[in-house]
Amino acid sequence: MRGAQGTIIKALSGYYYVAEPSGGLITCRARGKFRLDGTSPLVGDRVAVNAEEDGTGSVREILPRRNVFIRPAVANIDLMVMVAANVNPVTDPYLVDRVSALASCHDCDFLLCVNKCDLDPGDRLYEIYSRSGVSVIRTSAITGEGLDELKKALTGRVSAFTGNSGVGKTSLLNALDPNLMLLTGEVSRHLGRGRHTTRHVELFSLPFGGYIADTPGFGSFDVDQMEPIRPGQLQYCFPEFKPYLGQCRFNDCTHRSEPDCAVREAVENGYIDASRHSSYVRMWEQANRIRDWEIK
Ligand code: GDP
Ligand code: ZN
Repeated sequence: MRGAQGTIIKALSGYYYVAEPSGGLITCRARGKFRLDGTSPLVGDRVAVNAEEDGTGSVREILPRRNVFIRPAVANIDLMVMVAANVNPVTDPYLVDRVSALASCHDCDFLLCVNKCDLDPGDRLYEIYSRSGVSVIRTSAITGEGLDELKKALTGRVSAFTGNSGVGKTSLLNALDPNLMLLTGEVSRHLGRGRHTTRHVELFSLPFGGYIADTPGFGSFDVDQMEPIRPGQLQYCFPEFKPYLGQCRFNDCTHRSEPDCAVREAVENGYIDASRHSSYVRMWEQANRIRDWEIK
């Protein structure tokens, strides 16, 4: 037996599959131990393992996590990549704001890809985010524009892709690494898509280092499934609000309609994009309704 460390890349039927940095894969049987302290290992967890010579082992310890997503259940996502487009389909900035806020409140980096830029440069989307402290690049799965930058962002990290159906997530991943798509296709067939009711997340390794977290077949990371952000926390999920927080007349200002609100003044003076602020208000009101509903 030897001590080893690695990342859980798959959890299925009572087994954890732990990838070692050296390339080895250790198959660990799930044990009861972690349920005692309320923590069970998740895909994405970095773990310490007791490994046997035959490639089996057991998870000894879960190493500290950067973040945890509940639905889908996955830990340590470094980067959320949102793919958007301004043509066929047109992405609503509100959706981008929701995903970037979710990423931000999970201490997860965020990158917006304005894809299909060969058809439409998506100037408005690009403008909103580039001036809001949100990372944004233009990409095209057809011409290859922006792919080097995207590859650089993914290298050595665990990333999750999201975005409306048809924006080009599969095409971008395929353009980056055709083998990856073959591999996920195999897994989908093997599992029999649709038969599994619980969402199964898996990490797929990238040839240039790093992982993509997703359900087999790149159905994308389903942001609608994720837990909502509390109203009071939302203001911290908009990076461009930061210089104005604490500057309002009221300490508990919600930046919606209060007088002498520094955030709203910044919107009026053009320092904060109005569409970002209106998304904030919409998300705040939605989150507030959920809270009221829970209290009743
Ligand atoms: P997904 O649902 O997000 O995975 O989207 P797909 O990758 O399946 O792409 C949907 C359609 O858009 C396909 O017909 C692709 O060929 C097309 N597409 C994807 N990316 C681009 C792009 O950058 N430029 C153009 N012109 N078409 C694209
Ligand atoms: Zn305010």
